[in-house]
Amino acid sequence: MKAIITTPGQQGSVRLGELAEPSGSGAVTGADGQPAAGVEVEVLEVGVCGTDLEIANEGYGSPPAGQDRLVLGHENLGRVRRAPEGSGLSAGQLVVATVRRPCPERCAPCAMGQSDDCLTGHYTERGIKGRDGYMAEVYVESADFLVPLPSTLRRIGVLMEPSSIVEKGLMQSFKIQRSRMPWEPKRALVCGAGAVGLLAAIFLRLRDLEVSLVAKAAPDSTAGQVASAVGATLLDADQHPVSSLPDYLGHLDLIFEATGASAVAMQAIAATGHNGVCCLSSVTAGARTVTVDADSLNLDMVLGNKLAFGTVNANRHHFEAAARMLGAAARRWPGVLERVVTRRVPADQFEQAFARQPEDIKTVISFAGV
Ligand SMILES: [Zn+2]
Ligand SMILES: [Zn+2]
Repeated sequence: MKAIITTPGQQGSVRLGELAEPSGSGAVTGADGQPAAGVEVEVLEVGVCGTDLEIANEGYGSPPAGQDRLVLGHENLGRVRRAPEGSGLSAGQLVVATVRRPCPERCAPCAMGQSDDCLTGHYTERGIKGRDGYMAEVYVESADFLVPLPSTLRRIGVLMEPSSIVEKGLMQSFKIQRSRMPWEPKRALVCGAGAVGLLAAIFLRLRDLEVSLVAKAAPDSTAGQVASAVGATLLDADQHPVSSLPDYLGHLDLIFEATGASAVAMQAIAATGHNGVCCLSSVTAGARTVTVDADSLNLDMVLGNKLAFGTVNANRHHFEAAARMLGAAARRWPGVLERVVTRRVPADQFEQAFARQPEDIKTVISFAGV
């Protein structure tokens, strides 16, 4: 069966290959870390993100133990082909698999099903670190890591993985803030208008906050149109640097940072209003340095009870929450989430999916009908 594979560390090695068995065969483990029966899932679509491009072009990622190649892909949507008795799943069911698997040491968070908070760093991730991913015609996985989706989400279910990360960040923002103080946020800012930024804006609008996005995108771009369809406003970052936005927009209760630029992340922390929270989600793998006005930043955080925190990955609980949010957004704004998927590319033309185009938001590789 066909799969998109790469040799990590070898630039330009992404290729369409053949697997003798479904991706992940022989390595199925359950939530307890023990070998488990595998559910066979037929892959429908897999999203491509910056992490995939880094693995493909910059040598990030690692193959499964004993192998020199890695099956790519972590943002998945599939349909159960065969499920073992007692798995709670049946053939035909739409499912999304989570990405991270617990560390062998079973640190406290991993033992509790929260490998997204793994302390040892020895976790594995499908399609990224030590486990084959989902860019294959068929994969196998334990039911412990498969989240069922209603069939109504067929066209947007591929957005589940980025949605899970966004929803985790927002759930945590609310939970932390409300454990600190009475907190009724009114205004939010999202930095970045890629898939993660747009999903953050949509999920914040579902919570009825006033939402602005700031990004290097024109208000009449697809991203701008998606934002305005849900009642959010897209601001062009060239005219509205983040540092100017508290004056322009007013008090910012919550900032979700998803630009991929650490300089913007530093500005976002500073722009957060008193009693506010700044959720940082950008993976900035470079070595850039910026100068910050440290006295004033520190003073403002102290005197303003401000909080900034980082968030990465998501566990099953967040995927389930993301499914509810996608369903709610699809009902409130029919047809809008579909616009976040700007290109669908058949698996045998995968090169096109790895070449960025200007209007791209989320590019998806389709395996249905390979
Ligand atoms: Zn991703
Ligand atoms: Zn762990």
